[in-house]
Amino acid sequence: MTARPAERGGDSDALVVPAGDPGAARPDPRLLPVAPVTRFAPAPTGRLHLGHLVNALYTWGIARAAGGRVLLRIEDHDRQRSRPEYEAALLDDLERLGLEPDEPPIDAFRSGATPYRQSDSRPVYAAALDGLRRDGLVYACDCSRATFAAWEAEHGRAWRGIGCPGGCRGRSLPDEDGTSLRVAVGAGTERWLDLLAGPVADEPAKGGDPLVRDRMGNWAYAFCVVVDDARHGVDLVIRGRDLLDATAVQLRLARLLGRETPPQLLHHPLVRHASGRKLSKAEGDTAVRTLLDDGATPAALFGRAARLAGLRPDDTPIDPHDLGSLFR
Ligand code: GLU
Repeated sequence: MTARPAERGGDSDALVVPAGDPGAARPDPRLLPVAPVTRFAPAPTGRLHLGHLVNALYTWGIARAAGGRVLLRIEDHDRQRSRPEYEAALLDDLERLGLEPDEPPIDAFRSGATPYRQSDSRPVYAAALDGLRRDGLVYACDCSRATFAAWEAEHGRAWRGIGCPGGCRGRSLPDEDGTSLRVAVGAGTERWLDLLAGPVADEPAKGGDPLVRDRMGNWAYAFCVVVDDARHGVDLVIRGRDLLDATAVQLRLARLLGRETPPQLLHHPLVRHASGRKLSKAEGDTAVRTLLDDGATPAALFGRAARLAGLRPDDTPIDPHDLGSLFR
């Protein structure tokens, strides 16, 4: 069968929020922290798209409605996939959209190193790792994807449980360049009240102990965001439903790193193509830059994002400075 244009992803009107996504579109205002510190944390691995706009709408909207602050963080922990030209483009896109972070000013990224860029923060991650090491929680691991796949082939199910299939924690492998490192997160369940997804209980160790640094020397996503959210005082994490599954391990890591009060969490619905496919950073048709170049105003784009997120019944434009009105 030949795919219709909408199914090929060429038609951005065919975007939907899947009905199965949990939670109402708007959090109960009584549950929101007072004057929260939240963050917008894109990875510069592609262009900003409509999915990022939905996230920005929740992030700026809730911060403005609750008298809080928005930090901008560039999540370029993955050195192989991150590119400076994507960072430059996303900073320009934010400016064109009228999305000004409260901290740091956008120009701080253009003028050099900043603690809000992960690739400038490696000594901070190394220091956090040392703390976990002193607690005896870090071990070198030589399990590759193939090790996990071999375990799965032998047992008929994916690796699940404490540690890693190779039992590396007990092997005392040398911790050197080219070796990945894991953190022993322990057993048990993390529970939290997600401001949109509701009560959640999940096991941090369900996929084994998480990597903290991979064999290429990249700091792992979960580790960086936990260290960064703690050091920058982020107390409300607002992100897409796809990261709900990555949250239990982050709450556990935060605790192991000594954070007493974990941030509150809000996982919002994700925009997808009607076929179920996720939006991709490589797709021109949903790229914010293309839409702006084609003449869409920021207000029109936010109006459309609000309708897609289920926050508004139609596409009535919303001025970027008025996003707080969506959540009051
Ligand atoms: N950097 C992640 C992304 O681009 C977001 C991480 C987070 O919100 O924890 O999807």
